[in-house]
Amino acid sequence: MPDDAISNDHLERLQPHEMHASDVVDALATHPRSGLSSHVAHERLRHYGPNVLAEAPRQPAWLRFILQFRDIQVYLLLAAVAVSLLVWIMEHAHGIPYEAIVIMAIVLLNATFGFVQESRADRALAALSKMTPRESTVVRDGQPQRILSRDLVPGDLLVINEGEHIAADARLVETVAFHTQEATLTGESVPVLKDTEPLEISHVPSDWRNMVFAGTSATSGHARAVVTSTGIHTEFGRIAALLGETREQKTPLQMELDRLGRQLGIAVVAVAVIVVITLVLLEGIHSRKMAVQSLLFGVALAVAATPEGLAAIVTVVLALGVQRMARRGAIVRRLPAVETLGEATIIASDKTGTMTLNEMCVRSIRTASGSTEVSGAGYVPQGSFHLPDGGEIPDILRDEITLILRAAALVNDAALRFSEGAWKIQGDPTEAALLVAAVKAGISLDDLVSQSPRIGEIPFSSERKRMSTLHRLNSRHSPGWIGSHALFTKGAADLLLERCTSEIAAGGPRPLTEQRRREILDASAKMAAAALRTLGIALRPMPQGPPFDPAIDVEQDLMFLGLVGMIDPPRPEARAAVAEAAAAGIRTILITGDHAATALAVARDLGIDTSDGVLTGADLEHMTDDDLAVRLRVSSVFARVDPAHKLRIVRALQANGEIVAMTGDGVNDAPALKAADIGVAMGITGTDVAREAADLVLTDDNFATIVTAIQEGRTIFDNIKKFLRYLLSTNFGEILTLFLGVVLIVLLRGRTNELMLPLLAVQILWINLVTDGAPALALGLDPASADVMCRAPDPANARIIDRSMFVDIGVVASIMAAGTLWVFYQALRDGAIVHGRTMAFTTIVLFQLFNALNARSGTRSIFTGLFSNRWLWATIAASLLLQSVVLNTPLLQHAFGVVALSIGQWAQCAVIASSVVWIVELEKLVRGFIQSRKKAGRASGTF
Ligand code: ATP
Repeated sequence: MPDDAISNDHLERLQPHEMHASDVVDALATHPRSGLSSHVAHERLRHYGPNVLAEAPRQPAWLRFILQFRDIQVYLLLAAVAVSLLVWIMEHAHGIPYEAIVIMAIVLLNATFGFVQESRADRALAALSKMTPRESTVVRDGQPQRILSRDLVPGDLLVINEGEHIAADARLVETVAFHTQEATLTGESVPVLKDTEPLEISHVPSDWRNMVFAGTSATSGHARAVVTSTGIHTEFGRIAALLGETREQKTPLQMELDRLGRQLGIAVVAVAVIVVITLVLLEGIHSRKMAVQSLLFGVALAVAATPEGLAAIVTVVLALGVQRMARRGAIVRRLPAVETLGEATIIASDKTGTMTLNEMCVRSIRTASGSTEVSGAGYVPQGSFHLPDGGEIPDILRDEITLILRAAALVNDAALRFSEGAWKIQGDPTEAALLVAAVKAGISLDDLVSQSPRIGEIPFSSERKRMSTLHRLNSRHSPGWIGSHALFTKGAADLLLERCTSEIAAGGPRPLTEQRRREILDASAKMAAAALRTLGIALRPMPQGPPFDPAIDVEQDLMFLGLVGMIDPPRPEARAAVAEAAAAGIRTILITGDHAATALAVARDLGIDTSDGVLTGADLEHMTDDDLAVRLRVSSVFARVDPAHKLRIVRALQANGEIVAMTGDGVNDAPALKAADIGVAMGITGTDVAREAADLVLTDDNFATIVTAIQEGRTIFDNIKKFLRYLLSTNFGEILTLFLGVVLIVLLRGRTNELMLPLLAVQILWINLVTDGAPALALGLDPASADVMCRAPDPANARIIDRSMFVDIGVVASIMAAGTLWVFYQALRDGAIVHGRTMAFTTIVLFQLFNALNARSGTRSIFTGLFSNRWLWATIAASLLLQSVVLNTPLLQHAFGVVALSIGQWAQCAVIASSVVWIVELEKLVRGFIQSRKKAGRASGTF
C-alpha cells in the first residue's frame, strides 16, 4: 500500500456526506486546488485497481465453437451421419465409411466457418465499444487534464462540467448552479441541485446533496469534487450486479432475415419430404442402400435449401461496415442505425462546428462611438485595430474597445496559452476568440483576472443564450462610476439588448433611447448578414456585491457595452457534402441558435435552399405542430432555436413521412437526438449525455462525415441485398434442379435398379456449405457502386426482398436447373451415371460462381467495374481450385462419387453455366430499356 493511501476498510467506513468538504480533502490526503500528484495517483491506481465494474467473463473459444453445433441443420446432418454409419455397420463395416466421414468433415468445416465469422463480428463490435472511451477531467499536479475514467482513484479532484458523465462517487467541494441527473441510480427524473454543505446522518444516497455518484451526469452548471470511491465500491457498482448483462439488440433487417430463414426452413422441409416421397413412388425401393440414399438425399436437400449463412453474413457485413465507417469518422453506437442511414431523407444539422469550422476570430467591434475592424487570423493574438476605412482609432473609441474587451475576457471560461510553439485554446472557441481580441488590444489576461476576481456566475445555456459572471473590482483599474462590484453579461445581441436600459458611451452610462436601440439592432443585423457570429456585451454595477443569489434575475437593467462580430468560416467540404446529399435525394436543413441573418448567410454560402427564408424560434412558438409540418415541406433554415424546438422540428418532419438524421451536442439536445431516426452527436464538442442519446457519433464533428456515413449505410444495405440475391437464387436453383431432376430422369429413363439422382447428398452439402459461403461473404464486402449517392433513398420499411428480386431469383433458378439437367442428361446418354453426376455437379458449382458476378447488381451490367471486388475473384478462384481438387484426387473422387473431367468437359460445363450471365445481362438490358422509356414518357407528359 502506498504511504498516503487509505486502507479499503477505512475508505468504506468514511461517511464523506456527513463531513466538511475540507475534512474529506484531508482524510483522502489530497489538495483542494492542485489535486493529487501524478505519482501518487499512479500508486493509488495500483493499490485500488481500475475504476471499472467487473466485466462479464467472455465465453471461452472452445465453448463458442461447440455452440456452433447447436443448430437444427447440424442435428439433421449428424442424423445423416448416424444413418449412414448404421448402414455401414449393418453391411459388416466393409471398407471406409466415406459418406459419413465426408458429411462429418463438412459439418466441421461449416462450424469453423461460422466460428470464424462470429469471432470476427464479435471483435469488430468489441472494438467499436472501445472507440468512445469514457474520459473525465481531473486536476493533477495542479493542471486540469483529461484522463480515462478507468484511471480515476480515490482522492482525485474531479472537474465536472455540464453534460458530462460522472465516473466515480465523489464529495463536492465547489459548485456553481450545479445540477445532476440521478435517474439511473434513484429513479428520480428531475435534476437534483447540489451543494457542498455537510449533512446530518442520513442513510439514503438519494439525500446526499453534497455527493455525486458514478453513473449519473451533470445537467447544468459545474463543480469540483473529490473522488471517494471507485469501481465496484461506488453506489452504482453495488447495484450493477442486479442489472444483469444487456443483450445486443438485433437490427430490423436481422429480424426480417431470421423470419425469412424460419419460413424458408419450413418450406424446405416440406419440399424435401415431397421430393423423397416422389422419389420413392416413382423409383420404388429395391434395396437398403437405395432407402438410405433417398433418406440422405432428403436431408441434404433440406440442408441445401436453407440459406443458413444469412444471419452470420449479415452480422459480419454490418460489423465490418461499421468499422469502415469508424475509420471515416462516424462511430455507430446502435447497429440498427446503419440500416436507417440508408433511408435518411433529411439531415437537420447544427451550424457551429458542424457546418462551420468553429474557429472563431473577432473581426469587428461596434461600440457607442463607432465601428472598429480587427485584423489577424486564427488564435494567434497578433493583429491591429483600425477604422473601417483603414484610419487610426480615436482615443474615445479606444477606451470603449478596451472596456468591452475587458468585460468580454472576464465573462469567459476559455483559456489561451502558448505551448509547444503554438497558441492553443481551451474551452469554447467563441469565448477564446474574445480572449484573443483582448490580448490584441494589449490587455493582460492574468492581471485582469487577479484584479477582478470572479465571485459568482450564471452559466451559459442554449435556452438562455447568455451567461453572466459577478466580479469584485479594483477601483484603480475600473471606471469610478461602476463601483466595487459588477455583473458582466454576454450573449445573443438581440436578446441581450432587451435586458439593457442604458448604454456606455464616452466615459459613462446614458439612457438607451429607442432610436439607439434600433441602430444597434440594425448594426447587429448587418454584421450577421455578413455571416458574422455576433455577441452583445453588457454590465451591471452591483453595489451590494455578494452574496450572489442565482435564483434572483439579476441580468436586467443592464448597461450595453457594444457588439462583437466574429467570423466562423464554413467547412470547405460542407458545400460539396450538401450538394452530394441533394443528389442522393436528401435535403439539408440548417438549425442554429445563432442570429437569423447569420443563419441565412451561411445557408446561402453552403448551397442550402433559402427560398423560403428563415424561421426563428419565436416564429415556431406561434405555430401549431400541423402548421410547422406544412412549413417544413419547404423551409430549410431555422435560427434562434432552442433545443426544445429541435424536438418539435424532428416530430413535424417525421409526421411528413421523413426519415430524419439530426445533430446535437448539448444535454438539452438529448430528447431530439433520441426522437430522431438517426441521432448524431458531436465527438469533440458534444457532451457525454448527447453522445449517449445518439445513434451515431462524429469523431470530427463534420457535416460531411454524416453524408459519408449515409453513403456507407447505403452500400452496406446494397451489399446485403447482393448476397441475398446470390444465396437465395443459388439455393432455389439447387432445389429446382433436384426436384425436376428426380422427376424428369425417371420419366425419361424409366425405372432402374439404381437411384438416378442428379446429385448425391455429399455433393449437395459440398456446394452449400463450402463453395457457397465464401463468394456470399465477398459480395457483402463489395465496394460502393458509382451511383450509390445518385439515387433517391430507399423507402422506409421497404422489404429487403422486393418483387423484382423475386423475379430475378426465379429466372436464375430456372436457368440453373435447366442447364444442369441438360448437361446431366447429355452426359448420361454417353456414359455412366458417375460421369453424368460429375458433369452436373461441376456445372452447378460453375453456375453459382457465374451467378455471384450477376448478383452484384439487379440493374447494372456485370462488366461495369468487373474487377473492382478482388475478394470476389479470390473466392471464385478458391472455389474453382477446391472443385478441381475434389475431381482429381483419388480419395476425394471416391468420397464424393465423382471422376476426373477432361478440359473439354470442363469447358462444356463452363459454357452452359455462363448462360446465366448472358441471359441475365439481356434481362437487365430489357429492364433498363423499359424503365428509360417509362421515364421519358413521364417527362414528356401526356396531353
Ligand atoms: P448551433 O446551434 O448551430 O451550434 P450556436 O452555437 O449559435 O449555433 P448555441 O450554442 O445554442 O447555438 O448558442 C446560441 C447563441 O448564444 C449564439 O448565437 C450566441 O449568440 C450565444 N452564445 C453562444 N455561445 C455563448 C457564450 N459562450 N457566451 C454567451 N453567449 C453565447
